[in-house]
Amino acid sequence: MTITSLVNAMVFDGSSGELVAATVTIEDDRILAVVPDSVATARAVDPRAQDATVIDCAGCTVMPGLTEAHCHISFNNIRSMSDVVAIQPEDHSILSLRNARMLMERGFTSLYSAAAAKPRLDVAVRDAITTGLFSGPRIRAASQEISPSGNLGDLNNNYLELPRSICFTITCDGPDEFTKQARLAARDGVDNIKINVSGDRDWGHMHADDKTTVISEDEVAAVVAVAGPRGLTVNAHCTSSEGVKMCVRQGVQVIYHAVHADEEARDMLEAARDWVFVAPALGLPISMLREGRDYGLKWSAAKYRSLEKELETTQNCMRDLHRRGVRVLPGGDYGAFITNPIGTNARDLEHFVDFLGFTAADTLAAATRHGGALMQRGDELGQIKPGFLADLLIVRGDPLADVRILQDPARIEAVMVGGQFVKDAMPKMHHAADVADVRRRA
Ligand SMILES: [Zn+2]
Repeated sequence: MTITSLVNAMVFDGSSGELVAATVTIEDDRILAVVPDSVATARAVDPRAQDATVIDCAGCTVMPGLTEAHCHISFNNIRSMSDVVAIQPEDHSILSLRNARMLMERGFTSLYSAAAAKPRLDVAVRDAITTGLFSGPRIRAASQEISPSGNLGDLNNNYLELPRSICFTITCDGPDEFTKQARLAARDGVDNIKINVSGDRDWGHMHADDKTTVISEDEVAAVVAVAGPRGLTVNAHCTSSEGVKMCVRQGVQVIYHAVHADEEARDMLEAARDWVFVAPALGLPISMLREGRDYGLKWSAAKYRSLEKELETTQNCMRDLHRRGVRVLPGGDYGAFITNPIGTNARDLEHFVDFLGFTAADTLAAATRHGGALMQRGDELGQIKPGFLADLLIVRGDPLADVRILQDPARIEAVMVGGQFVKDAMPKMHHAADVADVRRRA
């Protein structure tokens, strides 16, 4: 039995609108007790533990670890889609593992993967962590993007017969091909199957822009039919309104972007709010708009105007969905483009406050409590509560006063996953005498 007691902490539990002074005690991999500091601190330290570790968290907030809802550990700040293809798989898996561990050290203890750039990258990293080869965050591993021909990621053409492996997406057509690819992804051991339901910005030359639904309902149904019985979730790149409706009708749990969802689509999302999640992935378009020029990208004025328009539409839609009680989660395609580097993922929290009008408490609840639910472990992950898994951060300062402090790695003093410190800069008192000292001071 290992006991760790975090004393003198201000605690954000994943739900409440304010910090509470409390002592958080962890036994092995779970939270044993959260005792308000008005009660004697020492009670939180199990008297059976002769060598309980006691950590003085004065000046810090203890909060649940963050969940990144739209994560790409294998997208390494690319300039073009062929960048993720060109890296050899061996190098690519090492990079992906590095990225997962960097995110963990920056406070993201759970990663919900939106897609892998090659078939088993997420799976290999997840398994290296769960088998104990490396410490790392919890990961729900994704397939590659499974997408109809003539859409986002389809780099083939009708003249050259090139091997499929040049794409980071898997192109397929018709329910049978979607069934086959979903089953192959399940065979690979993924947790999430990614499908591309709509086109996207910059794919208009294929008649697959962001308002266009490119998949058929039968194809979506085929993937859901593979995922459901196996306990996998389906997540969709889906910017179009009709696409959102199709996803809700077919039971796709995670809908990315949802920019153009009309009134009917929003009504459907509201009716499905107990099981559906929406993640707008704000980081990418905001960084393109604000920082594209800094990266020397010579885009036209029209391109910048269309990004502005897209963001305005997203803003209106997400504010409305939040008002309707739909779970809207941060997570913003970090790494999927050079303007939006992986590791800066906590910027999405600031975007939720500034751009979507979320309170800091709502933003943090979305990234923690709702994140635990997104990981399909809402009853044991994402909150500071007795019995919950001890995935938590010790952050210097008060993130409810300013969520931006979570962007500063130096303020993330410690990160714990399953009761184990995976980053730890806090001074400790290890001995029974020190425990007695804490008891005295309490
Ligand atoms: Zn993405």
